[in-house]
This record gives sequence, structure tokens and C-alpha cells, in this order.
Amino acid sequence: MTAGIIDGKAIAQQVRSEVASEVAAWVAAGHDRPGLATVLVGEDAASAVYVGGKQKASAEVGIEGFDHRLDQDASHAEVEALLRELNADERVSGILLQLPTPPQVDGARLTEIIDPAKDVDGLTPISAGLLAKGRPGLRPCTPQGVMELLRRHDVALEGAEAVVVGRSELVGKPLASLLLAENATVTTCHSRTRDLAEVCRRADVLVAAVGRPGLVRGDWVREGAVVIDVGINRTEAGLTGDVEFEPAAERARLITPVPGGVGPMTIAMLLRNTLQAARA
Ligand code: NAP
Repeated sequence: MTAGIIDGKAIAQQVRSEVASEVAAWVAAGHDRPGLATVLVGEDAASAVYVGGKQKASAEVGIEGFDHRLDQDASHAEVEALLRELNADERVSGILLQLPTPPQVDGARLTEIIDPAKDVDGLTPISAGLLAKGRPGLRPCTPQGVMELLRRHDVALEGAEAVVVGRSELVGKPLASLLLAENATVTTCHSRTRDLAEVCRRADVLVAAVGRPGLVRGDWVREGAVVIDVGINRTEAGLTGDVEFEPAAERARLITPVPGGVGPMTIAMLLRNTLQAARA
């Protein structure tokens, strides 16, 4: 078998045009334009590129952007005051604190003060709790992007064996909850999992979210499985995922490439979350 490629770039573009139409209809119905506030502390070049990308994508779909940039030596209290201001600002539907922050600013703690109704990254304890309880709420963008890829390819999840390698708060854990909510039988693996290869071989849907190039070998993929590679690794050969792509693609039914698979979905889902927050 040679796998079909899940084109994340094209699907992300579809989601973005859908959000653009929905924003236009929302505004035409007399509602305020949704607003996305991003907060970037310091001069980390990669973070600046991410924030710039998020603001540009927002503008393209008609979401109003509030681009806050604080100095590298901004204090924790200063960032906290800004976040509280944004919590109270009615023009702002969604707030995103770009991580990591410089050492004097406790980014994890500050994320917790974001109003859960504006938590478009889905990372506050309230959002995580709502997800764990199966209640409506804002979900983390990358795991939601994975679910969207599966949905648009009509991947049957009910009763399916889903294996998620990685248990981070950002990707692995919320993704496992989302798959469980779709009635998959979910196994979450991590660095202490015994015989990872055998567990992966059980998977109808295999997701790698680790950050180690080629960790998931081709022969760990069951014939006909759907393989989602969340990993983004900068290697000498360029950007690669966590899955050994060529041999995995020979066995899988569907597979995401890196780049161009899960990556583009994150911003698309952020835009959708911002619209969802505005509607709520
Ligand atoms: P993370 O917080 O570092 O978590 C990595 C997870 O992998 C941990 O749960 C860890 O287990 C597990 N792990 C490490 N080595 C392992 C091994 N040898 N065998 C099995 N499990 C192992 O990373 P993350 O934030 O979830 O990100 C994972 C990858 O996804 C990264 O490459 C990141 O760049 C990428 N990513 C992509 C997007 C996107 O596409 N937009 C978004 C976010 C992340 P322990 O818990 O036991 O330590």
C-alpha cells in the first residue's frame, strides 16, 4: 500500500476561507468584529515570526488584531496588568500569550489568568477541565487541527484503536481527550512506555507528538493505518517529523507530510477559536 497524503496546507486554507465567510456574516448581522490580542514579550526571533503569522492570518479573515509587544526586560507585573486589561476589553474576543517568555515572566502562571472565555489557545486549567469533562469550551489549536484533518478525510474513530505518542499539555493529552470524545479506544504513550513499537502496531490511528526525528519507525505502522505526524524537527536535512516517512507511507492508508501536514492547521484553528469566542 502507498498512503494517500493528507494535505494540511489545503485543508487549512479551506478552514480559513470558511472562517472568513462566517466572520463576514457575523459582522453583517450587526455584531462587533471578533478581535484577537496577541502578547509577545521579548525579542525571540521565532516567536516574533509566529505572532506576525497569527496577526496576518487574522487580518486576512476579517478578525481585528491587537498586537502587543513588550520589551525583553518587561516585568511579570507589567504583563499581568496587560492581560487583565485585555480580559476587560470588549473589543478583544481572544487572547494569546506567546510562549516562551523571558525568565522574569512566569508564562505558565500568566496563562492561567486569561479569561477562559477568551482562552483561544485552550491552555488555561478551566479549558483543560472542560475538555476532560467533555463539556463545551475552547480547545487547544494543534490537537483540534489533527481532529479536523481526520474529520475531513472521514476517518472512522468510533471503536478505532488510537495511539498517541506524547503526553504534553499542549498536544498529546488534549488530543487523547478529543479522540476519546469521538469514542476511539485511546492509548497514550510517553518516554516510560514499555515496548512502544508493539503498542504503535495496534493503532488504526497513530499520532506522533514527541519532537524526535524518525522515532516512529516504518515497521511500527500497521498496514492500512492512518498516521498523523505532529513533530517538527529542524535537522541537517531540513524540517522532518517524528515518523520515518517513506517506509511508513508504504504501509499506511493515509499520512501527513512534514512540513505541510499538521503545521498549517494550528493557525487555522486559532482563527476558528477566535470566532467561537466572539460568538459565545
Ligand atoms: P513536549 O512537551 O516536549 O512533549 C514530548 C512528549 O514526548 C512527552 O510526553 C515525552 O514523554 C514524549 N517522549 C519523549 N521521548 C520519547 C520517547 N523516546 N518515546 C516515547 N515518548 C517520548 O513536546 P510537544 O510540545 O508536545 O511537541 C511535540 C512535537 O510536536 C514537537 O516536535 C513540536 O515541535 C511539535 N509541535 C507542532 C505543532 C504544530 O504543528 N503546529 C504544535 C505544537 C508542537 P514524557 O512525558 O514521559 O517526558
